[in-house]
Amino acid sequence: LERDALFRKKHNIHVSGNNIPSPLTDFVELSSRYGCSAKLLRNLAELGFKEPTPIQRQAIPVMLSGRECFACAPTGSGKTLAFVCPILMKLKDASKDGIRAVIVCPTRELANQTTRECKKFAEGSKFRIKLLSKQLVQRADLSQFSCDILISTPLRLKLAVHKKKMDLSRVAYLVLDESDKLFELGLLKQIDSIVKACSNPSIVRSLFSATLPDFIEELARTIMHDAVRVIIGRKNT
Ligand code: ADP
Ligand code: MG
Repeated sequence: LERDALFRKKHNIHVSGNNIPSPLTDFVELSSRYGCSAKLLRNLAELGFKEPTPIQRQAIPVMLSGRECFACAPTGSGKTLAFVCPILMKLKDASKDGIRAVIVCPTRELANQTTRECKKFAEGSKFRIKLLSKQLVQRADLSQFSCDILISTPLRLKLAVHKKKMDLSRVAYLVLDESDKLFELGLLKQIDSIVKACSNPSIVRSLFSATLPDFIEELARTIMHDAVRVIIGRKNT
């Protein structure tokens, strides 16, 4: 525990919450501690990712332990892998059991970018990673739609659920990415209806943000259970 504290200090990782798992010293620990597939490790190596970034060091073990994660780290600090890696590991294999994970991004551009990143990390696997595109929401009925990871903006996803019967009741992982922007853009109501549509009682929610205004803290408190709070650097930079 003392060792974890020193290691966190060295990497400017601040945590709060109960029973926080040790941070990762390297990516190899993903396989030694958590049984990560050789394929995912190979993909990271091929992307030139040698060492986890501070947010990845702490958020990945938190999510792999089945805990909800409330994370704040600067733009460009590798938040995408911090949530995509544990989701890919937890989902284990591709399956057709409905929509299994949802990542909500504030803008189409960010949703696009996140989809591309996700696909790179999952390269060589059978995972079905889908962007909720305009063409897709225009389909008459989405009640049978399934994929391993669905990425969307809030408005489009809300539309798919309310107008096209998209079923989010089996979603096991919900990530609200760039949650500070989701709020700045006034997307709170859409987020609320998405959170409600993800009705699986054992859902694990995560919130990632570049800044930590009070309303984000408030949201985290209202939607998360026994979350681990991870902050990299200082709270409001
Ligand atoms: P954020 O969401 O925090 O703004 P991103 O997830 O978009 O950051 O990552 C920023 C850039 O850093 C991307 O180009 C990504 O591929 C790269 N990156 C992420 N993690 C690592 C890592 N461990 N090593 C090297 N590069 C990384
Ligand atoms: Mg990001």
